[in-house]
Amino acid sequence: MKTEGIDGVERFDSPGKGRGLRVTKAFKVGDLLFASPAYSYVLSVSERGFHCEYCFKRKEGLAKCGRCKKAFYCNVECQKGDWAMHKLECSAMCAYGENWCPSETVRLVARVIAKMKTQKERSSSEKLLAINDMEAHLDKLDNEKREMNETDIAALHHFYSKHLEFPDHTELLRIFSQVNCNGFTVEDEELSHLGSAIFPDVALMNHSCHPNVIVTYRGIMAEVRAVQDISPNDEVYTSYIDLLYPTEDRNERLRDSYYFSCDCRECRTKEKDKMKLKLRKLSEAPSPKEVRDMVHYARNIIEDFRKAKHEKTPGELLEMCELSLDKMGSVFEDSNVYMLHMMYQAMGVCLYMEEWDRALSYGEKVIKPYSKLYPAYSLNVASMYLKLGRLYLGLERPSAGHSVLNKALAIMEVVHGKDHTYVTDLKKELKAQQK
Ligand SMILES: [Zn+2]
Ligand SMILES: [Zn+2]
Ligand SMILES: [Zn+2]
Repeated sequence: MKTEGIDGVERFDSPGKGRGLRVTKAFKVGDLLFASPAYSYVLSVSERGFHCEYCFKRKEGLAKCGRCKKAFYCNVECQKGDWAMHKLECSAMCAYGENWCPSETVRLVARVIAKMKTQKERSSSEKLLAINDMEAHLDKLDNEKREMNETDIAALHHFYSKHLEFPDHTELLRIFSQVNCNGFTVEDEELSHLGSAIFPDVALMNHSCHPNVIVTYRGIMAEVRAVQDISPNDEVYTSYIDLLYPTEDRNERLRDSYYFSCDCRECRTKEKDKMKLKLRKLSEAPSPKEVRDMVHYARNIIEDFRKAKHEKTPGELLEMCELSLDKMGSVFEDSNVYMLHMMYQAMGVCLYMEEWDRALSYGEKVIKPYSKLYPAYSLNVASMYLKLGRLYLGLERPSAGHSVLNKALAIMEVVHGKDHTYVTDLKKELKAQQK
């Protein structure tokens, strides 16, 4: 494995967890443990024209592919570099026109298959090994997941048959499972989804709800930085999930997506659960049954909202948020994570609708509990500070803006690194404002 060549980090068998990574020397908060290039990756359709398809650089004035006019590049070098992957889609997008609609997973799997083929031809088995080695958990799929995989495989045959030789059905199922378990979503500094990628080395890390590293992205490289001091021989832990939620919810998510339960300190002590499920102070405390019912309602509405996102109008979505906040507010404090979840969603809808004042008022309610409930260095907290800061500046409240943007900066310097363009650009933004 490539990780064996990384100074200070090695692969080992983690007791009870299978393989994992551990450090052989000390790392301090903000130190880079390692960087790893994507084995395979794909830019989201919605980000086309904003980022280069090949290197993921964000800039204006990208040049488009002359044939399909849908893929955009920094320059001819990036376009040439991308052709081996882009040719899988270029002519097909023209042929299918509006009807070209494979999911991002299908697009990524097509690229994985193409990549495996070129690797085989070059008989360089190292990277092929890397993906073959990743866990697939095929035996644990429920019917819903099996059905989804079958739909994906049908779409793969439909949209990519011209340029790909497909492995047999069992092998395809295995690749889809691996991509689902080990795929990463690449996000920008505001946590907007940019694309999907496979980073075999990064996938070696086990999960903890109290992680000592965070994964961020620089173009199509993943970077792993310490967010706690790490001593020699300590295992490296990242978080696979959003850490806002209480222990039971986190473990449900881990079991559903990754087929294990977590036994980290947070999960054993459930220390933050009470704060996360904070109840309103009323003259008469709600009964345990009332609380249970409301938690049940909250989980359902979160799921309903997730599904409705692709179907309902922004107005209807905002109404859904407000109604649920009203209802939950009779039992839950504003800092309760289920309230925060719906406020965060409402903020997103308001931003989309360009209702800046309303977006700001939701953000202002969310940020303080966020900074208490998330770990000290959190991408969720940093991105919320960023969004708030940019809203303040847009609404001509520069001093409030600077104050929160500096808080974003303090976290971003640790998690993204001081030389990341997200950090240097933000510093420039702040400087320009002061003039
Ligand atoms: Zn580029
Ligand atoms: Zn093209
Ligand atoms: Zn845990």
